[in-house]
Amino acid sequence: MLNKIHDKFVPILNQVIARNNGEKEFHQAIHEVLGSLGHVISRHPEYAESALIERLCEPERQIIFRVPWIDDQGDVHINRGFRVQFNSALGPYKGGLRFHPTVNVGIIKFLGFEQTFKNALTGMSIGGGKGGSDFNPRGYSDREIMRFCQSFMTELHRHIGEYIDVPAGDIGVGGREIGYLFGQFKRLTNRYGAGVITGKGLLYGGSQVRTEATGYGAVYFVERMLATKGYGFDGRRAVVSGSGNVAIYTIQKLISLGAKVVACSDSDGYIIDEDGIDIDLVREIKEKQRGRIKEYIEQKGKSVRYVENSSIWHIPCDIAMPSAIQNELTGDDARTLVKNGLIAVGEGANMPSTPEAINIFQEAGILFAPGKAANAGGVATSALEMQQNASRDSWTFEETENRLAKIMHGIHDLCYETAEEYGVPGDYVKGANIAGFLRVAKAMHALGVI
Ligand code: NDP
Repeated sequence: MLNKIHDKFVPILNQVIARNNGEKEFHQAIHEVLGSLGHVISRHPEYAESALIERLCEPERQIIFRVPWIDDQGDVHINRGFRVQFNSALGPYKGGLRFHPTVNVGIIKFLGFEQTFKNALTGMSIGGGKGGSDFNPRGYSDREIMRFCQSFMTELHRHIGEYIDVPAGDIGVGGREIGYLFGQFKRLTNRYGAGVITGKGLLYGGSQVRTEATGYGAVYFVERMLATKGYGFDGRRAVVSGSGNVAIYTIQKLISLGAKVVACSDSDGYIIDEDGIDIDLVREIKEKQRGRIKEYIEQKGKSVRYVENSSIWHIPCDIAMPSAIQNELTGDDARTLVKNGLIAVGEGANMPSTPEAINIFQEAGILFAPGKAANAGGVATSALEMQQNASRDSWTFEETENRLAKIMHGIHDLCYETAEEYGVPGDYVKGANIAGFLRVAKAMHALGVI
């Protein structure tokens, strides 16, 4: 169920659908943004001139390449690598790399499109891009992961650079993979060009708080959103999907601010712990042992349940923070959450709620923070990492976290105020889309038809 869009944008959407056949996530992302722009164009007709919106929907460059690599048995595998350089009106392309079997060019385009608006919301000089591979890292040894990353970078390195395109991590790409990717870049170019990739380890040019930034940032956003209604986290019951980078630091920050997180998941199932998730144990299992979330019950015993083939969103909670993957929270899930007394949703993942789910939340008056605003803390801290690399400086954890909190509060206020200004108070989806669009459109308008 998709929202109606202004008549003016129908031919644009039709062209996107015809030109990007079958790429349904990309169509969905474009549809959502176009659905927010009706009000803007009546106030700013100049942004509909010179095919600006059509240009915004077409990536500047799409690179697809072969990634051959050899496993520990000596067998050769071929994966497909992608980098979509979506929009550089505001700065060098910036966005993560995703290694996951579901990756295809449509997924990378949807992520690159979303990233363009997200990066604009941060107010920093970064354009939008995204990349990755259909490689499934699950079950491979460290050496295999290293060989894959080296082969991937052997092609990617020609297309990136501090002033061109700066990748980072995403699903399946964490600190280990960033290390191997940067190592190969350094070897191929014979330069210690730390500003070419973010999410690096602290010993080789990384920033404090980058690991925690997306999760912490999402919680800061939700904290500010709750405050608009006079609510806080104290004593609230929360559910967070996933148990990867974003989920772990979302849970950690929620707990530190007084919430009780009762469930988290991976793609096999979820755990529910009524005593509150033991985040140190989750980190031990997921970050150190690279294990599965069901191992949590082996360590915690009977008070914990592990459930397969069922939706985590059927667990009653006040606050839901989907932090795994796109379209993981459906209309049915949304109805159940609302019935169970939900007050707020903060999207840690990119586009995790389906359009139907978003409609249900908004019609029920639930506070809803869309991913492109709520999870911008990761890329914002990546931009802080770039700043530190450029000035050969490094800031303390406290200083960097203070900057992150300030950026997230600023993004919240921008979305909130933009929604008010455009006559849709409390609609953070439209607020984020309009505010992000205005920044990108202004820059594109100034730069001419390129
Ligand atoms: P990770 O690879 O660290 O973790 C992903 C987690 O999601 C894993 O626990 C994975 O489980 C789980 N997962 C994947 N598919 C499903 C599914 N179908 N159902 C339930 N769980 C699933 O990735 P990140 O934490 O980095 O990314 C999570 C989301 O946040 C993505 O949407 C990403 O685009 C977004 N994001 C990430 C940022 C970052 O800085 N890392 C920045 C902004 C957004 P399993 O191990 O079984 O696959």
